[in-house]
Amino acid sequence: MSRYRLAPTPAQQAVMRDHCAHARYVWNLAVEQHRHWRPGKKSAPGFVEQCRQLTQARAEYRWLAAGSQIVQQQALRDFARALANFLGGTHGRPGLTTRERRRLRRLTRKFARAKRGSNHRARVKQAIAGLRAREADRRKDWVEKLSTSVARQFDTIRVENLQIGNMTRSAQGTIQNPGRSVKAKAGLNRGILRSGWGLLVRRLEDKAPQRVERVSPHCTSQRCSVCGYTDAKSRESQARFVCTACGFACNADVNAARNIAAGHAATARGGDGVTRPVNREPQLLLQLV
Ligand SMILES: [Zn+2]
Repeated sequence: MSRYRLAPTPAQQAVMRDHCAHARYVWNLAVEQHRHWRPGKKSAPGFVEQCRQLTQARAEYRWLAAGSQIVQQQALRDFARALANFLGGTHGRPGLTTRERRRLRRLTRKFARAKRGSNHRARVKQAIAGLRAREADRRKDWVEKLSTSVARQFDTIRVENLQIGNMTRSAQGTIQNPGRSVKAKAGLNRGILRSGWGLLVRRLEDKAPQRVERVSPHCTSQRCSVCGYTDAKSRESQARFVCTACGFACNADVNAARNIAAGHAATARGGDGVTRPVNREPQLLLQLV
């Protein structure tokens, strides 16, 4: 099979991104509907009923109607296929990671109880390794996709120089390509945070040589991103920042990310250590919460 790289224009890229967002939205709704089903309950809607509901939703929501019905219906068709595969016993349940975590916990307990040297123990061990490998693959895939996209979109990329820990990273966009706010989901990122952050920074440095600056985390969470005043008391709580000087209030992680994006804090490695004046908001705030 041949593989071709598409070279869409920025306008086409925007359309494609919207298609993906709509397909994801519709897919997640389908997952949600089926997740609530329990034995004895009326069955969750099938493909035909879901398509009818989609038509209704499109009539109600203009942003959904603005997208392609074909793309949205295809997401439902894909879901129906995935569900049929699951019921046929050949594939896992679509909507795939909380369940995996539960399964991993169960297997780990089983492993601890299994008799040493037994076949049973060996089988459990293999199942655990399989699950872990799958998580690692997903993480690597995510890191590759994200680092490629960030390296393409942004000129200067500033990351908080942490081993692990603070959940907010930021990057500054270019004027031509301002980027968007991205909030990644908690469940998906739990595994990524565990060991993916270092990998993400490494791959960013590979793909955007000389353009990645590591910013020291020193004071980034205590400094006001609007007036520059630094005070530990401004950090009202883990989640909330309220400047004691100018009263600016904001999510604490977002405030810290703006400081990082603006390069405020001593540059620990890479970059020239010079704080540049910034007269606009950082364009991409990547929050891994
Ligand atoms: Zn302030």
